[in-house]
Amino acid sequence: MERTLSIIKPDGVKRALIGEVIKRFDSNDIKIVAMKMIHMTRTQAQGFYAVHKERPFFDSLTDFMSSGPAVVMVLEGENVIARYRELMGATNYKEAAPGTIRADFATDIEKNVVHGSDAPETAAFEIGYFFNNFEIVG
Ligand code: GDP
Repeated sequence: MERTLSIIKPDGVKRALIGEVIKRFDSNDIKIVAMKMIHMTRTQAQGFYAVHKERPFFDSLTDFMSSGPAVVMVLEGENVIARYRELMGATNYKEAAPGTIRADFATDIEKNVVHGSDAPETAAFEIGYFFNNFEIVG
């Protein structure tokens, strides 16, 4: 059993896509074991995306991520890190496979609706960034 961090980014919340995203977890046997709505400060967004701090889009990305409420979740399931990345689709929605969340809903390479951890080490860091053990069920 594996865990990963999911974020419905501020564009997804603003555009009322929370239900659409969660429906896909339910129909793909992905269990939600923690969930909350947060509005990140810019500093929190900068800490979360610290690996990207040298990238040219860092300021824009962290402004966007702190621009409104987001929904953070811990997902659990077999091979869930890779399975959720598949459901999300490629970072650039124009390259995302048909039927993926980003192909269906993203409007921009940055405003791509969802985040998902990309490896067990990043999942552990990212889950710990938003949740303590008492907030995760099961
Ligand atoms: P992810 O793991 O698929 O989310 O992609 P990355 O870790 O490479 O990038 C993190 C986030 O930065 C992406 O989900 C986008 O929101 C944003 N991003 C990535 N590439 C670009 C880019 O070229 N321009 C802008 N403005 N944002 C980007």
